[in-house]
Amino acid sequence: MSEDRHKARSATFGTVPQDVCIFCERGKPLVKITKEHLFSRWVDDVLTPDLLGPDRSFERTTAGRDGTAVTKTWPTEVIAAVEAAVVCGGRQDGCNGGWMSELDGQVRHLLEPMMLGKPRKLAREEQLTIAAWAAMKSMVLEYFWGADQVIVLPQTARTFVFRQRRAPENMQIRIAAVESWGRPALFFRRVYQLQPKAAGGLALPGFASCSTLVLGCFVVQTYGTSVTGPATSKQPHGRNYLVINPPTSADINWPPPEALDDPALDRFAHPLQPVTGD
Ligand SMILES: [Zn+2]
Repeated sequence: MSEDRHKARSATFGTVPQDVCIFCERGKPLVKITKEHLFSRWVDDVLTPDLLGPDRSFERTTAGRDGTAVTKTWPTEVIAAVEAAVVCGGRQDGCNGGWMSELDGQVRHLLEPMMLGKPRKLAREEQLTIAAWAAMKSMVLEYFWGADQVIVLPQTARTFVFRQRRAPENMQIRIAAVESWGRPALFFRRVYQLQPKAAGGLALPGFASCSTLVLGCFVVQTYGTSVTGPATSKQPHGRNYLVINPPTSADINWPPPEALDDPALDRFAHPLQPVTGD
């Protein structure tokens, strides 16, 4: 068992090491690229094994270029130990210990109650903070999925988050809820290869990446493509999700009217299923 886990880790989490920080693009000798844990410590402090039981897992689903989806699951303790050297730290103005941990601190008091299933009203500014945090996390997460992964999101998108502390305008971000007996800590990632329109239409971006993070009862999903573009038109909220990026000025009330059960979560994590048909 432990040997299998070790194999899974070394085989699958051949994280993509970087010479320069994925956000600010600085490298040696200006800054040191430091290892970043996937989970912030406070996430583990909220979602304790006592609270949730041992059934915490981590799942990866990727749709390959041939459209085949591969799903893998790992226990959380393996995931908690995984680090990727992709962002800079070690200095006062380093990303990891600077703006990223600031953003993490800002989002903590917003997410903690929702992770535990407590309803919450979110003002516009709070939605923007959660969206910025989710964008930042999903960008770091792209580098956690192994050397064979496609890094979909472009540098311009990461630079935007670094400079503006906001989610890129053309990234679609939704929040949702799962029942308290749902899957407590689960990450999905889907990579889609988009086909150019056959006749006369605009060329589509080459790839899209959809990351879905389930943290306790709280679910957040980012959907971004490999090009930078103008804000997509504002999508309406659904029965089981709320759109927080592109942002609106209105307050929203979490949770949405319907929580996601397991099949609904699978559908939610695979938004292009009606197109790909798998
Ligand atoms: Zn940096």
